[in-house]
Amino acid sequence: MGKLSDIGTIKEILSRYGFSFSKSLGQNFLVNPSVCPKMAELGGAKKGVGVIEIGPGIGVLTYELALRADKVVSIELDKRLLPVLDDTLAEFDNVKIINADVLKTDLRRLIEEEFPGMDVVVCANLPYYITSPVIMKLLEERLPIKSITVMVQKEAAQRLCAPLGTREAGAVTAAVNYYANAELLFSVSPGSFMPPPKVSSAVIRLDIRETPQISVDNEKMLFRVIKAAFAQRRKTLLNTLSNSLGIGKEQISRALDASGVSTAARAEQLTAEEFARIANELNKTQN
Ligand code: SAM
Repeated sequence: MGKLSDIGTIKEILSRYGFSFSKSLGQNFLVNPSVCPKMAELGGAKKGVGVIEIGPGIGVLTYELALRADKVVSIELDKRLLPVLDDTLAEFDNVKIINADVLKTDLRRLIEEEFPGMDVVVCANLPYYITSPVIMKLLEERLPIKSITVMVQKEAAQRLCAPLGTREAGAVTAAVNYYANAELLFSVSPGSFMPPPKVSSAVIRLDIRETPQISVDNEKMLFRVIKAAFAQRRKTLLNTLSNSLGIGKEQISRALDASGVSTAARAEQLTAEEFARIANELNKTQN
């Protein structure tokens, strides 16, 4: 077998296994040889580190991760890829493939069982149809991981990494910010994939904070407030919070005043601290 990142080798493997791409599983495989080594390096794959990969495909990124890290566990939903991965990763004894849906996988248990005593990172070229649920699962479960380095649609990357208080920020920006420091690492053109997707892509890294950036009395209330604030982002906070949370305007107005936030402000203007203050005020009266 030739070099795995070589497009000729990839085509040969896919035709040998009679593999046809599944659009619904977000199958766009990387065929640009410079992307995976860079992702693996910037994603922190190195000695002493265990890596969780989501959606290895035919193993192009897995290969680069396995070269650098102590151990790689890759979760792949499409069982047609299992014999292919057996073949492409045959030279490694530090890779384990799990045939499962990442959204239904108990990742805390997986980390305990597979990576005892190791620093753990996530590194993946994500299936784009589940970008947000995967990222939120990784963050909300408070898993013992150091970072999440993922390829996502460029638009999603820009939203995830936007500073709060700017127009590009959304509910997911605020939620991600609470758990992690997000950084856009580099962009990747559609031509780097087979088949090429319609959109550009980018690799981002979320460095998990040891303690959340802001202190809130009730995390659930914080996330309810964030979601509600962005639900109708062009409306004033007074209106959108009242409508989306089903709380009277007077009460919302008092909470905003006590938080030092104008009732006429919009979600995209708020900082993390302001979201936290509003959540803390509403939490006092909404339990
Ligand atoms: N890592 C490979 C690469 O870069 O060439 C493939 C990336 S491709 C964008 C996404 C991969 O995720 C596919 O192999 C697909 O079968 C897999 N996948 C899709 N949904 C999944 C799920 N719910 N759980 C685990 N893997 C999934």
